[in-house]
Amino acid sequence: MTTATGWVGGLTIRCGPGTPTADYLCTACWHHIRIVGRDHVKYGARDLPITHRATCPATPKENPQ
Ligand SMILES: [Zn+2]
Repeated sequence: MTTATGWVGGLTIRCGPGTPTADYLCTACWHHIRIVGRDHVKYGARDLPITHRATCPATPKENPQ
């Protein structure tokens, strides 16, 4: 599946101009998470795939932590 923008999911970070925004689109369940703000993006964006993976309904829990 592709979108009009060509974004096919995963983590995308836009640093500006303006307020930095990070979007995460899960390619398994199409759940979308957006975080806004420089500090939130800086410290939270890289964890988005990890945190979502723990709750993603479409991700097999083969190795529960
Ligand atoms: Zn998901």
